[in-house]
Amino acid sequence: MFNHAMQPVASSSPPRSVAELTRLSFPILTLEERSLTPALGYVLNKKWLEPYESIVSILWKFKTANALPGYALARLLGPRVDPYEGVAPQLEAIELERLRSTLDLPVKALRAALLPALQHRPCSESFRYGRRCIACGYHSALYQIERVIVCPAHSLPLEVACRRCGYEAPYLLNVRLLETPYRCAECGARYGSKKWSPDRIQPLSGEHRRAITRVYIERGLL
Ligand SMILES: [Zn+2]
Ligand SMILES: [Zn+2]
Repeated sequence: MFNHAMQPVASSSPPRSVAELTRLSFPILTLEERSLTPALGYVLNKKWLEPYESIVSILWKFKTANALPGYALARLLGPRVDPYEGVAPQLEAIELERLRSTLDLPVKALRAALLPALQHRPCSESFRYGRRCIACGYHSALYQIERVIVCPAHSLPLEVACRRCGYEAPYLLNVRLLETPYRCAECGARYGSKKWSPDRIQPLSGEHRRAITRVYIERGLL
């Protein structure tokens, strides 16, 4: 599948930058971003997703189900995005069309997954999670809004630091965050008690979904 990525580099090529050489060390990374499509067998089953799931949560599921490197995911976010530096998960910063076609998701779901950068609604710069939500593989864009302090589904306080080492992950779509689904990028500890996997789906209950939707509407996000 990656044959065309392994063509020898012509000796007349100009010197390559470190970034290019890094890409060359992984066959998949030399593919055009548009090649990372469901046509190649990458799947994201819509049944895995819950209402108002954040883009981080969606990409973690996509990564886990398809064993994709975080780098390939970061490259989906736009040709000008430095995968290591990353980009804020905000509507204005992401190329929705590229994500839409790769993930085969409706634009509506992607808009809900990304918050607009609004001054009157301060968002946390660190990843905030509900322990029970994340054990089900769920994180909502809602949890990044600073005024939201408890998970509406489980009524548990949202947490910002790793319980083991105290690391607060910057809420940035970069290789570091995308490479470590449901775990602390610093020490590797799990954020929740379980790991999400496509063959062990634990959907939120109807009641939990309604509670999340209610807060989403109350916060004027629809
Ligand atoms: Zn929760
Ligand atoms: Zn940690």
